[in-house]
Amino acid sequence: MTLPAPDINTLTIIGCGLIGSSVARAARQSGAAAKIAVVDADAANLEKARSLAVADSYYASADEGVAGADLVIMAVPVGAMASVAESISSSLKAGAILSDVGSVKSSVLKSVRPVVPDSVHFIPGHPVAGTEQSGPEAGFASLFDGRWCILTPPEGADAGAVATLSAFWTKLGSKVDIMTADHHDLVLAITSHVPHLIAYNIVGTANDLETVTRSEVIKYSAGGFRDFTRIAASDPTMWRDVFLNNKEAVLEMLGRFTEDLTALQRAIRWGDGEALFDLFSHTRDIRKRIIDAGQDDDAPDFGRPHES
Ligand code: NAP
Repeated sequence: MTLPAPDINTLTIIGCGLIGSSVARAARQSGAAAKIAVVDADAANLEKARSLAVADSYYASADEGVAGADLVIMAVPVGAMASVAESISSSLKAGAILSDVGSVKSSVLKSVRPVVPDSVHFIPGHPVAGTEQSGPEAGFASLFDGRWCILTPPEGADAGAVATLSAFWTKLGSKVDIMTADHHDLVLAITSHVPHLIAYNIVGTANDLETVTRSEVIKYSAGGFRDFTRIAASDPTMWRDVFLNNKEAVLEMLGRFTEDLTALQRAIRWGDGEALFDLFSHTRDIRKRIIDAGQDDDAPDFGRPHES
């Protein structure tokens, strides 16, 4: 009989924003860690986290915050991971697990791994859960409930450390999948990164139109536009870093997307209703499969309240 992986005694989260503060809250609520420390470089964010009492201790300096920690999770923008890892590398406890929550995995693996001491287990991760908001006040304990967390252990990673980290995320409510960093980046390019780019682009295009006034764009936004604006309101720093660090996979998926868009353009131009109808029926089925898989609920109009 295999024994359950041990709980974490001390957890340190670096970057106490939406994801970092949600990890802290969920870890406390689930008992996944006995002691929780948070680090944030921004004094105002740290003060906010303290006033929300998301953790047991609070540090402005990352190397002080990680001393003695069994699990360290970096929850800063992807472009800041390597410098954070470098700043803590000599303070990490031997046998500790170092992980992250970055939305891109290959670049994090490549830039962080060289600075991690051999005595520390580096296992990158990505909880596929979030909202368009940022900061410590945006976090909540149930963010990871029923959502996937993808771990991308490098070749030769310690199996015990991977099991401990999987058990941690399972306790936070996540379902855990393991894959290579490259595969993660390709999958997330189409499920997350390209959709965000499309949303940023369509909102930007609407803003630039001259024949339709900006006030009309806002006034008639319920026609579909406002659902794109939710995604396009996501954190600019985080998303800049995603596109700069997942360049190849995003460009590959954008190439496919552009070809399919051209086919749609052609169908509209030539009045090919059958092609349009077939595609729209297929996409409606994908929405149903997402609901059936428990990754969204089927409340109409995303559950917005409507008077009967
Ligand atoms: P966020 O709310 O902006 O939080 C990031 C926090 O890290 C902020 O408090 C930021 O401070 C702080 N920070 C930045 N650089 C730092 C440094 N060098 N040292 C210490 N703290 C630092 O962003 P988030 O949405 O939680 O995203 C964090 C990570 O999670 C990103 O890597 C992102 O790709 C990943 N992720 C996000 C989502 C999502 O939906 N948002 C989902 C899954 C994964 P400042 O505000 O002063 O910069």
